[in-house]
Amino acid sequence: MSRRSLHHPAPDPADLRARIDRARAAAADAGADALLIAPGSDLRYLLGQAGGSFERLTTLVVPATDAPPALVLPKLEAPGYADVPVDDLGVELVTWVDGDDPYRLVADLAARGGRVGRVAVSDATIALHVLHMRAALPDAEQVLAGPIVRELRMRKGTEEVAALRDAAAAIDRVHARVPELLRAGRTEAEVGADIAAAIVEEGHTEAKFVIVGSGPNGASPHHDVSDRVIEQGDVVVVDIGGPTPAGYNSDCTRTYSVGQPAAPDVPDTFEVLRQAQAAAVAAVRPGVPAQDIDAAAREVITAAGFGNEFIHRTGHGIGLDVHEEPYIMAGNDLVLEPGMAFSVEPGIYHAGRWGARIEDIVVVTDDGVESLNQRPHGLTVVD
Ligand code: ZN
Ligand code: ZN
Ligand code: ZN
Repeated sequence: MSRRSLHHPAPDPADLRARIDRARAAAADAGADALLIAPGSDLRYLLGQAGGSFERLTTLVVPATDAPPALVLPKLEAPGYADVPVDDLGVELVTWVDGDDPYRLVADLAARGGRVGRVAVSDATIALHVLHMRAALPDAEQVLAGPIVRELRMRKGTEEVAALRDAAAAIDRVHARVPELLRAGRTEAEVGADIAAAIVEEGHTEAKFVIVGSGPNGASPHHDVSDRVIEQGDVVVVDIGGPTPAGYNSDCTRTYSVGQPAAPDVPDTFEVLRQAQAAAVAAVRPGVPAQDIDAAAREVITAAGFGNEFIHRTGHGIGLDVHEEPYIMAGNDLVLEPGMAFSVEPGIYHAGRWGARIEDIVVVTDDGVESLNQRPHGLTVVD
């Protein structure tokens, strides 16, 4: 299979600059004097690069005022950030060497915006750094930056939606190859290894997760792969995905049958699932609470008598992380807005027997929904 080139490999510096400005404003709105962003997807969102760090501190300091943002990092790791357009972004690079106190540096940079009464630390900051930071800023209350940053990340820009569309097309090409790989007599692990290779061949940087749940294993939603030998007549849940070079993730589930399904209840039950997934997608539009999408799927499944076999939320947001806001579940009254992207993935799980799930990534448009995955939803019978 050919490796397709994906557009939008790196975000436009103008987009990154706008994100930093929005982060600054969101921090101010939340009453935080500075955001302290650790390596990870929040950092990738703001700088175009996720970075990485262990015991040595790397932190992007974004004051809530006009003071310039600064990336504090160990001097030995600076080459890894050579692609970050710091000049265009107005971000200062502040390096430190072993023996310096990087927490003091962060405290001083945060204070350039004025008195620091509250800092928002990104959710992924390790406790080691959180506690040292507390000691360096003893008068500052620490709060999580997650609720601030997610307000931005949840509403995808057109370039992000384009990246998610590329990721969806890439995983669709993998699902198109699954029938060649799924055979009675092979183990889930063998099939999974071939699928993982296909995920990379079709344009992902890695196979982040590969679930091949055959027979009774299909009734365990977060099963991965096992040494179970796939049998003729098995229903097989294949849930796969990973990031593209642009950093945005795919996540798509289709359910297959190796030959005609052995269990007699499969066709009727699967049809209920197909209708539930379609009903949930059809309910997506701006102005609708996230929980209503969950209810749309759940009503169909419950009405058919399988309510107790649908044992998870209907979906999760997706972007630079595979699971992020908004979560599509009961109790989430968040109102959907254009640009929000999430999975719609109801499942029906008959413990000990078989299970099925259908998952697409969808994006809320100005007046409805765009489904990014294009593969057919039916039970695909593999001979
Ligand atoms: Zn999951
Ligand atoms: Zn999935
Ligand atoms: Zn998912």
